[in-house]
Amino acid sequence: MSSVKKLEEVLKDWEAVIGLEIHTELTTLNTKMFCGCKLEFGAQPNTHVCPVCLGLPGALPVPNKAAIESIVLAGLATNCDIEKHSMFYRKNYMYPDMAKNFQTTQGPVAFCMRGYLDLDVDGAGAKERYGLEDLAEGQTQDNITRTKDGYVAHVGITRIHMEEDAGKMIHVGGGEGRIAGATHSLVDYNRAGTPLIELVTEPDLRTPEEARLFMQKLRQIFLALGISDCSMEEGSMRCDGNVSLRRRGTTQFGTKTELKNMNSFKNLHDGLLYEICRQAEVLEEGGIIYQETRHWDPSAKRTIVMRVKETADDYRLFPEPDLAPYDLTDEWIDSVRAKLPELPDQKAARFQRDFGLSAYDARHLVAEPAVAAFFQECMDVSKGPDAQDDSTRKLAKALANLCINDITARANADAAFDLASPECPLTPARAVELVGLISSDAISSKQGKEVFAAVIELDRDPGTIVEERGMKQVSDTGAIEAVVDQVIAENQDAVARYKDGNVKLIGFFVGNCMKALKGQGNPKLINQIVAEKLNQ
Ligand code: ADP
Ligand code: ZN
Ligand code: MG
Repeated sequence: MSSVKKLEEVLKDWEAVIGLEIHTELTTLNTKMFCGCKLEFGAQPNTHVCPVCLGLPGALPVPNKAAIESIVLAGLATNCDIEKHSMFYRKNYMYPDMAKNFQTTQGPVAFCMRGYLDLDVDGAGAKERYGLEDLAEGQTQDNITRTKDGYVAHVGITRIHMEEDAGKMIHVGGGEGRIAGATHSLVDYNRAGTPLIELVTEPDLRTPEEARLFMQKLRQIFLALGISDCSMEEGSMRCDGNVSLRRRGTTQFGTKTELKNMNSFKNLHDGLLYEICRQAEVLEEGGIIYQETRHWDPSAKRTIVMRVKETADDYRLFPEPDLAPYDLTDEWIDSVRAKLPELPDQKAARFQRDFGLSAYDARHLVAEPAVAAFFQECMDVSKGPDAQDDSTRKLAKALANLCINDITARANADAAFDLASPECPLTPARAVELVGLISSDAISSKQGKEVFAAVIELDRDPGTIVEERGMKQVSDTGAIEAVVDQVIAENQDAVARYKDGNVKLIGFFVGNCMKALKGQGNPKLINQIVAEKLNQ
């Protein structure tokens, strides 16, 4: 592709229409979907297999009740209607990864139908949405409502259905494990029959950022439910992105392409962004978009054709004769509803209510379950929830900053840093102690960064580190006043220029005082005292 236009340019003329299909393996279950074989990632090949998942003639499937409970939990947590009557179908295909020659899946009626998620889009990502500036806060247009920090997008969920995973093929001798050029292929059926749920969204997403946030929010919800480890790298959560363009102002959908198996949030965002720009260029040159499946190559930064779309008829979907239709009772659905844990949105609302956090802080705090749990523990070790109490609000705000900025940055940069591990040197008590040292002005926030790193590196308490390194911030007014007096006495011409109106010189005095105090003076106090003395 020669000169791909910038996304921003493209979206002025074209509206992108995006729908996602997200597969999630129910990795936290003990056994497979239709047999008693153990679910275990990374086991010796073909050690967790039996006549059912190997598709031997005469073997009969038995549905895994815990898997049905998991999908109903997923549906309830994403505002779906739970269908009481549904059934399994056979989706026929011939490929060695599925010994049965068909996949057991659901037909037109899935366990979960007609749900939605509301996405909070803020920061730089919100700018991808065309026409946002024209909306006033609280104003609604199409499926979005403008907020203070960005907007909320309402995204429909078509369905969530139950199915099973296929086995895993390993192609030997070709480049990068591809089948092209391979001399032979191996197949491992351990994964065959793993319970899998597929969520399909309505074509309601309009930007790559919205697609990324949808995936991220769904992952947070599934992690809270505990139905999967949601590992995108290991493929237990995978996403296909469907995308098409239409001219702004028109209503008819264009032809879509499908990007397969994007295995990280960044790849999902960047792949869609590239594909939107590619389609715009093709269409603007008078070309046509073919309905095809494409592969996003992150290192080459382009998408390439994998195959032209097969039609639904090729699968000859028909009701599974070996499994009875499913009938769920209201009592059973209610018993599952009673097991719903606190979901990320509810947690964020509680953090706002109980600790006086802003909506922005609360939302970003719950983005990673481990971080949210850590924050909660910090609040627990300090004192009880009471938003009316000013010191609780201050502590919560300081801890939220630590969690959202320092802890998240650390976790992203250092794979070995695991907050949830009992061996993690950064304990809730130490985090509370650290923010206490900063807010009481014992150390500056800059020194706080050094102490944060040292706690993790040396596995020692913040107070001990401050002591050992002699980092105590000078907050003694008398000591600071003496230094300020001396600096002023030594720089009389600067004082004269300051009094002539060069007020920027205040920085020069503060800097010199800081130097004299070897960087350990309390900047707030120094500023205050310098200003007082200069204006005397
Ligand atoms: P298919 O039959 O090709 O699988 P579906 O109608 O099942 O297509 O939709 C698959 C996904 O593609 C859904 O998430 C849906 O929202 C999305 N989708 C459907 N039509 C379009 C379109 N024209 N542009 C973008 N996404 C679309
Ligand atoms: Zn089996
Ligand atoms: Mg489809």
